[in-house]
Amino acid sequence: MTDTGALVLFSGGQDSAVCLVWALERFSRVETIGFDYGQRHRVELEVRLAFRERLAGAYPLAADRLGQDHLLDLGVLGAISDTALTDDRAIEMSASGLPNTFVPGRNLLFLTFAAAVAYRRGLKHLVTGVCETDYSGYPDCRDDTIKALQVAINLGTESRFVIDTPLMRRDKAATWGLAMALGGQPLVDLILEDSHSCYRGDRTVRHDWGYGCGACPACELRASGYRRWQATAGEQG
Ligand code: ZN
Repeated sequence: MTDTGALVLFSGGQDSAVCLVWALERFSRVETIGFDYGQRHRVELEVRLAFRERLAGAYPLAADRLGQDHLLDLGVLGAISDTALTDDRAIEMSASGLPNTFVPGRNLLFLTFAAAVAYRRGLKHLVTGVCETDYSGYPDCRDDTIKALQVAINLGTESRFVIDTPLMRRDKAATWGLAMALGGQPLVDLILEDSHSCYRGDRTVRHDWGYGCGACPACELRASGYRRWQATAGEQG
């Protein structure tokens, strides 16, 4: 197994877009994986391909290093979960304190499937944009969960996978800062234009922070992070 390859869990959202570039800077061979699980913001699945195609224009290393994309059909997730992410119903906080966009254990499943693909492709690193700073309370995004899963995957496959979580300690403002550090304004512009975070899949209005409904939890996180980053950048500049 090579030490240099990475498989990036790339949803087409802001976080995974930054993770993809983070991986391209470090690893000579980078592939991407996405999951189609009947999510109602299917627009993410469309923007992820457009983002990949345009990436080399903003970040030239991608031309040499970005390899193939894998899209796995996980429609079964829609069948076993009852959430606002896959059903057409309002996004709200549930009694457990988690938003009802929560698909229980989703990241456990995603990373396990990603490891199976990485095993077949001879890729050592799994890169995911999970974050415990402003992660909406999802327990499968926590550092302890990811570390435990890395151990379980390595025991279960007799491998030495490394799960990289470059955004674990970064909030959304710091994630914009990382994008700027990695690829400058061309990369920030690409992420603004061609990544997608909105839970409702709304791309009708272009805000200063990108496209979205502007009201769902994902849009609120993205907008407030962008404005905090802009305010900080203004102070520094
Ligand atoms: Zn939205």
